[in-house]
Amino acid sequence: MLKITNLNKTFDGTHVLKNISTEFPENKTTVIVGPSGSGKSTLLRSLNFLERPESGIYDFEGEQIDFSKPLTNKTILDIRKRTEMVFQGYNLFPHLTVVKNIMEGPTQVLKVSKNDAKIEALDLLDKVGLKDKADAYPAQLSGGQAQRVAIARSLAMHPEYIFLDEPTSALDPELELEVLKALMQIAAMNQSMIIVTHNLAFARKVADKIIFVENGTILYDGNVEGFFNSDSDRIQNFVNAMT
Ligand code: ATP
Ligand code: MG
Repeated sequence: MLKITNLNKTFDGTHVLKNISTEFPENKTTVIVGPSGSGKSTLLRSLNFLERPESGIYDFEGEQIDFSKPLTNKTILDIRKRTEMVFQGYNLFPHLTVVKNIMEGPTQVLKVSKNDAKIEALDLLDKVGLKDKADAYPAQLSGGQAQRVAIARSLAMHPEYIFLDEPTSALDPELELEVLKALMQIAAMNQSMIIVTHNLAFARKVADKIIFVENGTILYDGNVEGFFNSDSDRIQNFVNAMT
């Protein structure tokens, strides 16, 4: 279980995350939603230490980190080994084929044999619906395909948690659907995921838990049906505006 308590983050004196406390259950998909500028990306990036909150406790399966104290590089690296942030799919290695892009981390970092890494890479490509693109180069892929390769590449590292920040925001609707289908498949494999998205229809299908952030505060933290049937006017207005 990944858990945060009383997280605070300011940018240039603006309080962006205000005493945020929540938990992200294992083997489940947690979806973070909320208006633009509410702090969703800052929250997600804080979970991977891409942002450094000024205070708060980060608890990863009982291992506690206090953000108000200096963090060592070792701590940061340890957490990053156990998590994967999927960036928009444009940071694939352009000179490597799709299958080799996926094999790179496991062979170089995890010291998996090339043969085993290839077997797993092909299996992951199958799961994201791209087995036939194994020998293609990134430049030959559509945006949605590149994004699915990026997702397969992060899965190959066997992270305890995968973080995705608007994984389909750069895609047109048809390509978006392919990526969302792949993510639902991965969610069905019980991979722990934390996804920021504006797509509430997708959130409704994939989420085990929804966190609604507004103005740096969590206004809802609970199950999917409770969110969509919330009697809070603020949440209802948000849902109506977004669907
Ligand atoms: P969106 O839905 O548009 O992606 P968001 O919910 O992800 O929005 P954040 O990117 O977390 O929002 O930003 C929250 C607030 O923090 C915004 O007011 C933003 O301007 C501010 N902010 C984010 N990153 C920085 C930064 N590096 N420097 C200064 N301010 C920042
Ligand atoms: Mg954002």
